[in-house]
Amino acid sequence: MLRFPDMFSRNTTRRTTSRIPLPTDAVVAVTYLCNSRCTMCDFWKETRQPTMTVEDYRKLPPTLRDINVSGGEPFLHPQIVAIVRALHETCPKARITISTNGFLTDLICKRTRDILEFLPDIGIRISIDGVGDMHERIRRIPQALQKDLATLRGLRAIGVRDIGFGYTMTEENVEHCTKVYALAQQERVDCTWAVAQSSDFYFGGKQIERRVDPAVVAREFDVLMEAELRRWRPKSWVRAYFAYGLRRLALDGVQVLPSRAGTDFFFLDPFGNVYPSVVHPSVMGNCAAATSFSDLWTSTAAAHARRVVAAWDRPYWMVCTARTAIRRNLPRVARWVLVQQLRLLPQRLTGHRSLSVPTAAATP
Ligand code: SF4
Repeated sequence: MLRFPDMFSRNTTRRTTSRIPLPTDAVVAVTYLCNSRCTMCDFWKETRQPTMTVEDYRKLPPTLRDINVSGGEPFLHPQIVAIVRALHETCPKARITISTNGFLTDLICKRTRDILEFLPDIGIRISIDGVGDMHERIRRIPQALQKDLATLRGLRAIGVRDIGFGYTMTEENVEHCTKVYALAQQERVDCTWAVAQSSDFYFGGKQIERRVDPAVVAREFDVLMEAELRRWRPKSWVRAYFAYGLRRLALDGVQVLPSRAGTDFFFLDPFGNVYPSVVHPSVMGNCAAATSFSDLWTSTAAAHARRVVAAWDRPYWMVCTARTAIRRNLPRVARWVLVQQLRLLPQRLTGHRSLSVPTAAATP
């Protein structure tokens, strides 16, 4: 059995250089308030109101190409529509997605309808950690899965095209990884994966101490990798590589690519603090207080935070930081995909399948 904290034992990060271009990717937590009661996160105990104003979000760099609006529960922020508008106007080339627990169906659909008026490509990611009653057990919200599926259908009805599920692996729901994937296929939406992790300042400071069966973890990620590799689209092959990264992290404590946290990517909290990522606690500066984001990004504090990232000895692999790492290491990822496709070739030729996604769960 593995303990999640024990997985983080090897430093594979790379030193940043002295010339730091503005970042391309960000996670923006607009509030830490949350209406869920998740077992792997303590944000639901949070009482502090966000202090970033809508105008403060206009300080973010226009170089951003990917912004994940997160929380807490971001739709609880009364100005979420104005914030997304400010992000879109400030960073017009950025793909913007909002991660939600999906429980407030009417509120989410109402605010998303307003967002669709100026951003028809908005993406929504609904967190789903299991099928049957597993999702309810982890989120500690009655009828959790039914509420999320109602939100999915409500969003579809108002015209949201980019909808996906986000699954987080904890000790309780390891075997539900492929079940949620099957549910996503059944509902014809994308699915992203994460492994629950500790943070000194994010997730309400929650420290994860869980035991998982490595054989089960391996099987779950092997099924995901093979399913994505069998699809004839490069985006799926990159997703297979991301699943491979999670498998290596969970089983071997290895980070498969060097980090770009604090260089290509940053995390912004609801109080204006900018961090290299949700696992790196060094504050690079405060967005609300800074005269400009460039000043913040080139400050002494930001340089110090990058040194902390460079010396970080606990591997991590999250979709936010992995995206920029994969982008910077495409030849290496392509080689891995090629090797895996060659490995699967005999199965493809004979029509044999060694691993298959479980039957999609019955939709409540
Ligand atoms: S994991 Fe998400 S939904 Fe759950 S308490 Fe934390 S912020 Fe809320």
